[in-house]
Amino acid sequence: MKKIILGLLLISLAFMFTGCAPQDNKKNEADVLIVGGGGAGLVAAIEAAKTGKKVILVEKMPALGGNTIISATGITASDTIYHQESGISFTKEDHFQRTMTTSKNLANGDLVRILVDESASAVLWLKELGVNLKVRSEAEPFWLVPVEGHYGAQLVAAYIQEANKYSNLEIRLNTKANKLIVENGVVVGAEVTNNDGTYNIKSKAVVLATGGLNNNPEMIAYYNAKYANIHTQMTTPGATGDGITMALEVNAELVDMEFFQVRPLSSNGNWYHERIISTEDLSGILINKEGVRFTNETAAPRTVASEILKQSDALAYIIFDQRVYDAHADAKKAFTIGRGEKADTLAALAALIGVDAATLEATVTSYNEGEDAFNRTALGKVIEGPFYAVKTLPSNHYTMGGLKVNELAQVINKSGQVIPGLYAAGEVMGGLYGDGRVAGNNTLDDIVFGKIAGFNAAQ
Ligand code: ADP
Repeated sequence: MKKIILGLLLISLAFMFTGCAPQDNKKNEADVLIVGGGGAGLVAAIEAAKTGKKVILVEKMPALGGNTIISATGITASDTIYHQESGISFTKEDHFQRTMTTSKNLANGDLVRILVDESASAVLWLKELGVNLKVRSEAEPFWLVPVEGHYGAQLVAAYIQEANKYSNLEIRLNTKANKLIVENGVVVGAEVTNNDGTYNIKSKAVVLATGGLNNNPEMIAYYNAKYANIHTQMTTPGATGDGITMALEVNAELVDMEFFQVRPLSSNGNWYHERIISTEDLSGILINKEGVRFTNETAAPRTVASEILKQSDALAYIIFDQRVYDAHADAKKAFTIGRGEKADTLAALAALIGVDAATLEATVTSYNEGEDAFNRTALGKVIEGPFYAVKTLPSNHYTMGGLKVNELAQVINKSGQVIPGLYAAGEVMGGLYGDGRVAGNNTLDDIVFGKIAGFNAAQ
């Protein structure tokens, strides 16, 4: 609890950093300019500041934290002090294999090797900053979770506290980077806009740490048409892909941009595990606004998500019965957080969600009788009232692809050459995830590649 209060205090202190007068040129010069104040940007800023160089970090939102602050669970790391202490093993090789396999072997093995090799020291560094973790369980030895409190809030609070130690590091909130400045082929700063106007910040190097595309449905659809009309339930507002746009203007290469970690069951800033629509017997169904089923609910989450997105208003209702409610914590969570409806009969439920009652009853009856036009084999049952309906708006959870970088976090251009002066770290960077992300590797990559980018940008 103390940690949470400390975190909130630090985050409010972060609000007090203000934009700088655009007119004063000396004030707008730095050795390193960091764009984005989520996990990767803050770590890069701290690392660059450690070298004694002048660092400016710009964050377009009124507060630091980005999507890092809403990271709910923990970090993935291997061969750490916590594994030694608990006697529960998760080795570097386990970590490497798990990351590569989950990516369908599309991740860049050299970058993954760095991620894995540095994970134990990343966790030690977090401990130094006051973030204490523990192995979640023998069943999930890869997860290190906080001893107490909310993970993302603690992480960001710790980064801000550390950043505040460096007088050579200045943080400007409400300051959006618009485009990179290039002179003689070298990136030497960025044009930024704050409430007072637009001005240039000149620097010897720029680190892009602008996060993913989660709050930019058009851009997501551009890279993968299956996700057209995707919702934005699971993101903070700043994740609009600005770093990708800015880097493309200087000819940067992208990797794996078609891959997104989308969640079919999501609303009000949360997602619900797909087991509530896929467990044999104890699961529900999805219907559209017309009251009919349209997909095999047990298909891969991304397939289910794209099928929902094709329906009217790109939404669906999860329909389940009391047995499912009792069996799954996620059913209760969906009903509560997703502000679901509940009624004793299907007809009454249909009225509450504005669906034709006879159609919903016919859909459920034929499904309960085992009729399935979508080849669903793990059939749930919707038989015992009260019945529940929760609206779901499929949303993106993580942007897998991003800017191509080398082992020094330098951004690579379309001809395979380093773009001098330009670095990237965090979700804007590609190469670590391919077609699948190991949960918890993302806040690890903020630390590992944030440090690499910050240090090298300061050289
Ligand atoms: P990561 O985990 O990679 O650090 P986050 O989502 O936590 O990603 O943080 C990215 C941060 O970058 C967010 O706080 C977001 O508001 C900020 N950001 C995005 N685009 C810009 C921009 N053009 N100028 C300044 N800050 C930006």
